[in-house]
Amino acid sequence: MNKTIIVSNRLPLQISIEQDKLNVSPSVGGLATGMKSVHAEGNGVWVGWSGITDEELDASLKKEVNAKIEKEKCKAVGLTEEDLNDYYLGFSNRTLWPLFHYFLEYSEFENTQWEAYKRVNQKFAEVVLETIEEGDTVWVHDYQLLLLPQLIKDVRPDVTIGFFLHIPFPSYEIFRTFPWREEILTGMLGADLIGFHTYDYERHFLSSVKRILRLDVNFNEITYHDRIVKVDSFPMGIDYNKFHEAALTHNNPDTNISELQKRLDAHLNEGDDKKFILSIDRLDYTKGIPNRLKAFEHFLNTYPQYKEKVRLIMLAVPSRSNVPQYQRLKRETDELVGRINGEFSTVSWTPIWYFYRSLPFENLIDLYTSSDVALITPVRDGMNLVAKEYVATRTNLDGVLILSEMAGAAKEMNEAILINPNSFEDFATALDKALTMPLEEQNNRMKILQKRLKRYDVEKWAKEFLSTLEDTNQLQEIVV
Ligand code: UDP
Repeated sequence: MNKTIIVSNRLPLQISIEQDKLNVSPSVGGLATGMKSVHAEGNGVWVGWSGITDEELDASLKKEVNAKIEKEKCKAVGLTEEDLNDYYLGFSNRTLWPLFHYFLEYSEFENTQWEAYKRVNQKFAEVVLETIEEGDTVWVHDYQLLLLPQLIKDVRPDVTIGFFLHIPFPSYEIFRTFPWREEILTGMLGADLIGFHTYDYERHFLSSVKRILRLDVNFNEITYHDRIVKVDSFPMGIDYNKFHEAALTHNNPDTNISELQKRLDAHLNEGDDKKFILSIDRLDYTKGIPNRLKAFEHFLNTYPQYKEKVRLIMLAVPSRSNVPQYQRLKRETDELVGRINGEFSTVSWTPIWYFYRSLPFENLIDLYTSSDVALITPVRDGMNLVAKEYVATRTNLDGVLILSEMAGAAKEMNEAILINPNSFEDFATALDKALTMPLEEQNNRMKILQKRLKRYDVEKWAKEFLSTLEDTNQLQEIVV
């Protein structure tokens, strides 16, 4: 039976070694959920890095780890510490990530890191090529593996390959500044189908292909070496039912109340006009956190009637804390929260509750279900799943989502209040509008959003990508 080989930088597994005991368990991220029917329940294999470098494993432990990984229908690509530093922390996160999110000034163009990126993509190719059997399909994910499709196609032109980019593809004017622009484009063109979250990213990619490689592009099809490469948009969804049902259980009076929920309730029970505004993101410069804090300060000054009533709950999840820009962002965020709280706090009220940590799923549900407004305002974001998760948990159809126009999710969430995250005026007006929005209007907006998210959930997303890939394969046969 033909199988699908899924390839991503990290395997969907949590591996830990505690007191010489090895634990391997599946992790439940969005991508793993979307792939469930292909991977866990289907005939699939997942190729990726285990999260443990070669240096951390002696020969016998390595054997044990690999055996446990294979039991989970996964295959590990071994990475050394040097690989990890130069390919992942280096080229992926200090070159591609900032450039593709329009932070050109943060992008480092280091030859050693580029060499490591090529070397590690080759390592992935070797494991994939060992795993491929005739008739298999390969689905490669994300910006860490942009060269992989071509490395596989060179050796196995018979194999159908899909590629999906989970971050934005920048406009030509940004992409053209990249020293290895041809190599990256030709690497991606090894795929038969290239997917993006939005039509804009797709358009940007096609424009770069046309102008940099001078290839023929006909609508969304590129002719490349006697092959047709199809490009399309597939906005990634969430596991809608998981979030919706967790919220229903949470709201059931028989369910145990968490300590966090007790604290939240204590504030909300102080009066009908007490409200929570929620923001959740990784602490990343693309998420627009300092701007959001300054805009919240501006809002409190512009609409002083909300003082002592509304509270911003800001959950910032630690991320890439060994990269200098992230360390600076952490300092700036700490200072801004301190300054704003210092400026506005009273004996009975602190305007911002700031958590710098990640929270377990149950507590995320506490926050989503207790917040009247979600304020999700990245300056640039491929999709943004938090915005979708907030909507899925609003089982009473109340609550208002304020969403940045710069998030891919904005393209499918027109019923949110969409704002320009660089405009403090937009922020203040949107917050006032959200906090005073009649319940009926909240319901109407929520209903439409929920219907859309439920219909196009993450499983549907994966299925649509794979069925389009299959159609593309048939198209090749006609061309040949
Ligand atoms: N999330 C989490 N733990 C937390 C906070 C958030 O697992 O403490 C999850 C959240 O539920 C969402 C994901 O992290 O699924 C963030 O995805 P998003 O697309 O919003 O942003 P990314 O971090 O991928 O840029």
